[in-house]
Amino acid sequence: MTTHTVDLAVIGSGSGNSLPDERYADRSVAIFEEGVYGGTCLNVGCIPTKMFVYAAEVAEIAADGDRLGVHSHVDGADWPSIVSRVFGRIDPISAGGKRYRVEDCDNITVFDTHVRLDGRDADGRYRLVTADDVILADEVVLAAGSRASVPAPIADSGVRYYTNVDVMRLETLPQKMIILGSGYIAAEFAHVFGALGTEVSIVARGPRMLRKLDDDISRSFTEIAQKRWDLHIDTQVVGASDLPDGGVRVQFADGEHLDADVLLVATGREPNGDRLGLETIGLQLADDGRVIVDAHGRTQAEKVWALGDVSSPYQLKHVANHELRVVQENVLKGWDATDLESFDHRYVPAAVFTHPQIAMVGLTEEQARATGRDITVKVQAYGDVAYGWAMEDSTGFCKLIAERGTGELLGAHIMGPQAPTVIQPVIQAMSFGLHAQQMARGQYWIHPAMPEVLENALLGLDI
Ligand SMILES: Cc1cc2nc3c(=O)[nH]c(=O)nc-3n(C[C@H](O)[C@H](O)[C@H](O)COP(=O)(O)OP(=O)(O)OC[C@H]3O[C@@H](n4cnc5c(N)ncnc54)[C@H](O)[C@@H]3O)c2cc1C
Repeated sequence: MTTHTVDLAVIGSGSGNSLPDERYADRSVAIFEEGVYGGTCLNVGCIPTKMFVYAAEVAEIAADGDRLGVHSHVDGADWPSIVSRVFGRIDPISAGGKRYRVEDCDNITVFDTHVRLDGRDADGRYRLVTADDVILADEVVLAAGSRASVPAPIADSGVRYYTNVDVMRLETLPQKMIILGSGYIAAEFAHVFGALGTEVSIVARGPRMLRKLDDDISRSFTEIAQKRWDLHIDTQVVGASDLPDGGVRVQFADGEHLDADVLLVATGREPNGDRLGLETIGLQLADDGRVIVDAHGRTQAEKVWALGDVSSPYQLKHVANHELRVVQENVLKGWDATDLESFDHRYVPAAVFTHPQIAMVGLTEEQARATGRDITVKVQAYGDVAYGWAMEDSTGFCKLIAERGTGELLGAHIMGPQAPTVIQPVIQAMSFGLHAQQMARGQYWIHPAMPEVLENALLGLDI
């Protein structure tokens, strides 16, 4: 065992990798990464999935051309070439990020191994242990992210299953895939594999897909999903077994079963705080497994901070990055500083890059009603505006929720082409306190662009 002493230890190279910028040049920093350098978003999350999603969109549009009078069809997808294009771009970025830290940053040491805390030494420094080293650190940042949670009937069965970590590197496009889960990761992968030619079955425990979203979105998307994929709702999985041909069988509580070449588990994510030895420094986890932090990113152990999926109520990259910037400032200011920066979780947007795309910010209608405020709701179809006509869109809509009287915007929920882009002006309006009337009439809306659906929805609110 070799002992090292550093000023700061950062566990996780996702958002955590950005913490030591040039202002940290006079501090010695250890970064620990047990997986691929750069974390989930870069390697196995947001970025590769969206690169696959874009290819799926192209296939989808081509397959749908006849509707617009364009004779087109998809001859198939060259899966291995898509995989090598995606990871041919991503893998060098990950390797380059690590190389930069290892070769160009004199004050930083990268340990590419699992680490856990092991109490404090006699001087009060935190002890971090790997298989080969002990690192003593004055201060620690937990940026350890989250991992795919796997339901017990699958984990215990011993079958070969995939998660977001390995499904994007399959050697061949499966003919048939079972996706367990009904959240955004399940919806995105269903779109990717379905559009590229795989026969997709989705198995959902509950009655609808994307159940955490606004009811109108969740209900409409479930109807669309039912037409696109083989959707099994209200279905309890009780076991799984390998098939002699290399496939897998998933068994349901009602005695039925499904067979496929590949089983993808996308049933949610759990924070990695339970693997960090936090009990040795007196830290308890919240009931949902998150590390507990205050608004400044401080845990209950002095000079131990946390950010991102390991502690945040939002498992989103833009939130992890925001929290990183707050913690980055606060570590520099000092644990007891009176002017610490705070997390801003007021209007956290999210998107689902499935088909059709979905985006949201603020409260659902149900949540808005539960506040007891007098609310007004307007649902505007994409098909009501000129660009929606151009696309012959028949399923897209935008739903706005505002307070009657003041016009304060409380929530926006959009399903349709480019929803994550179309929603951005609402995020801006909510963040800067712009109310519905000002937003609708205080600016030009490019005609005839898709955001006109927002303009019309704003004007349709009964303020
Ligand atoms: C399939 C998928 C698609 C996604 N798409 C989107 C999207 O479109 N938009 C969006 O906003 N978000 C998306 N997300 C979520 C987003 O990826 C995460 O919110 C974000 O990456 C979290 O960043 P982080 O820095 O908190 O954790 P991570 O990026 O996960 O970094 C944590 C790192 O810590 C390492 N680690 C953990 N424990 C230890 C240990 N004990 N020792 C050493 N190393 C350790 C891990 O290996 C990991 O690399 C997606 C996630 C998935 C899985």
